[in-house]
Amino acid sequence: MTAVETGLPRVDVMKPWLGAEEVAAVTEVIESGWVAQGPRVAAFESAFADAMRARAAVATSSCTTALHLALVVAGIRAGDDVVVPSFSFVATANAPTYVGARPVFADVDAATGNLTAETVAAALTPATRAVIAVDQAGVPVDLAPIRELCDPRGIVVIEDAACGAGSTYHDRPVGAGAEITAWSFHPRKILTTGEGGMITTSRPDWASRARRLREHAMSVSAADRHASLVSPPEEFGEVGFNFRMTDLQAAVGLVQLGRLPAIVARRREIAARYRHELADVAGLRLVDDPAWGAGNAQSLWVEVLPAYRLDREGLLLALASAGISARRGIMAAHRQPAHAGRTHVPLPVTEQLTDSTLILPLFHQMTDDELGRVVDVLRGYGGE
Ligand SMILES: *Cc1c(COP(=O)(O)O)cnc(C)c1O
Repeated sequence: MTAVETGLPRVDVMKPWLGAEEVAAVTEVIESGWVAQGPRVAAFESAFADAMRARAAVATSSCTTALHLALVVAGIRAGDDVVVPSFSFVATANAPTYVGARPVFADVDAATGNLTAETVAAALTPATRAVIAVDQAGVPVDLAPIRELCDPRGIVVIEDAACGAGSTYHDRPVGAGAEITAWSFHPRKILTTGEGGMITTSRPDWASRARRLREHAMSVSAADRHASLVSPPEEFGEVGFNFRMTDLQAAVGLVQLGRLPAIVARRREIAARYRHELADVAGLRLVDDPAWGAGNAQSLWVEVLPAYRLDREGLLLALASAGISARRGIMAAHRQPAHAGRTHVPLPVTEQLTDSTLILPLFHQMTDDELGRVVDVLRGYGGE
């Protein structure tokens, strides 16, 4: 695709990194004759649990369904409040509503874009039963202080690591410090299976209930039923869901998981190049690693400060007219009609970041030339 305005090839904001190994893996599944949830899903779950140092992993159709299921197994229901950041993709705020609970928005820290123990504390209500803490843009959330606040109060901390595969928190994979964590394999994230998600959890009881609930709460899985000629009669102990991943997706996921170290290394290398090239540009602040961990550079956001010669919208236009596709920064769910009227504490940092940030192009295959074009535009409007 070429940018009409410039005739230059377009620089995309993100591209998945898929190759011949994924094609071969999918072909093998098709030739096997079993394409629904089966042995590849089981293999992907166990490889993912190992990689994320989790006790158990349960694959789902998306991170949205993983969050829904996590809330169900954690016992969250109508009348409960769930603290969530407004500064996140809308799925984080939507999830509590699926179980009849109320999302209560908390503000985030300006440096990381994540909840902190202080912002969570400010949003607690007598009905708070859970918190969903996001590793926004792959930047690890400082989970331990949030758990210290919540655990004694019986509040479950769910980690939304949709963007977090390959990020670390105190030298462990993110997610490993939460009782239950949800992951995404959408193409906009670090690993992709087209669509797909995962729950990891330290609670075997929650894992087995999630495993049943994702498959209509059936007592025998379809794969096990198929394996025996005379299968036992299945029983449906409660109302479940169809949140299954397919073996086609899991086969891609297994290949992608093997690529994770290379994906993260390359993304961090590009992020470091951006930081180096833009270090002396007044008025731009790039998100960086916090003291407690290392991000995967899933999304590299930059805050456009008053010292810059363009505002955020102006910079987006300048990039677009150079054939570069950037994106407005992370949304604020409390401003969306879907969540209008929800009570919340003041969210000044959320509003500041959502209005003044944009997401820079960053993908595995990005060339020096493409990076140079983005940097040239950003440097061109630097403040004095
Ligand atoms: C993308 C995203 C989701 C939703 O993931 P899906 O797999 O598309 O359902 C949830 N939470 C956050 C923080 C996300 O970025």
